[in-house]
Amino acid sequence: MTTRSPILIVGSVAFDDLELPSGTFKDTVGGSATYAAFAASTFSEVRVVAVVGDDFPQDVLAVMETRGIVTKGIERVSGKTFRWAGRYDADLASRTTLDTQLNVFADFKPKIREEQRGTPLVLLGNIHPTLQSDVLDAMSGPDLVVADTMNFWITGESEKLGKLLARAHVLIINDEEARQLSGIHNIRRAAADICKRGPHTLIVKRGEHGALLFDETGIFAVPGYPLEEVVDPTGAGDSFAGGFIGYLATHLGRGAKLQPAERARLMRTAMLYGTATASRCVEGVGTSRIQTLVSGDVDARVAQIRSLFELP
Ligand code: AMP
Repeated sequence: MTTRSPILIVGSVAFDDLELPSGTFKDTVGGSATYAAFAASTFSEVRVVAVVGDDFPQDVLAVMETRGIVTKGIERVSGKTFRWAGRYDADLASRTTLDTQLNVFADFKPKIREEQRGTPLVLLGNIHPTLQSDVLDAMSGPDLVVADTMNFWITGESEKLGKLLARAHVLIINDEEARQLSGIHNIRRAAADICKRGPHTLIVKRGEHGALLFDETGIFAVPGYPLEEVVDPTGAGDSFAGGFIGYLATHLGRGAKLQPAERARLMRTAMLYGTATASRCVEGVGTSRIQTLVSGDVDARVAQIRSLFELP
């Protein structure tokens, strides 16, 4: 019997304005929790903890529910939903944040419902590290805690982030953030330094170039899949995290205690699935592709990525 453990995901649910080379898309539904939840729901039940304003459409929550995403934990409060606007360069390799309006997200205090406390896998999206720690305080000892963060918290809240890191099993950040967090330029030495602070596994995302994994058994790399057309990179990082934890949810049961070698293999395979899920996300604008993803799409992309380094 396949294990399908539920996953709790905390993060932002947003409206995004996207300026892409192909055109401008206003009021698209986005947010770190949204992308991660759509991605992870391809694998298992997802419970989202987030906040939206009274302007957020009910039918988007209904779409989530049809994918096995439990939206009871998405609190609706009076005011406007978080908004983000970004502009991409012509090659889609870099983007500029044009606007961030926290709105109801400014006072977000994640509330963990009684029935969510025992969720075995937790993905802490990029929110204030103290709020990430509060979520863990409210839970009854999850088996796996995967955390994301960003430069804003690394430079502004390093002490609080340090406390959170001591409780995280896996940290997923990009190479620039790994350098910032450790103060070390060499990525391998930076990773060793970060892993001493708590997480047994560090994943360093390198955009279209793929991702590196560091743990006590060594280093592992998964290349990005070179797509013929990237439509919109928004949410790739969050979809990576969702696909990563989603795969793990199909292999980790409650109270799972893994030996390092077994854990190393599982984390590496999950990284392949995270990469495949992220590369599917960027095939469409906003969440259009990720919200219709099925496991066959991910498996097919995993096979394509594997074929990149198989000799004929
Ligand atoms: P990614 O492309 O993986 O970095 O994710 C982009 C998503 O993150 C967008 O849908 C935004 O709404 C959301 N986002 C951008 N900035 C923030 C922020 N400061 N806090 C939370 N979510 C954010």
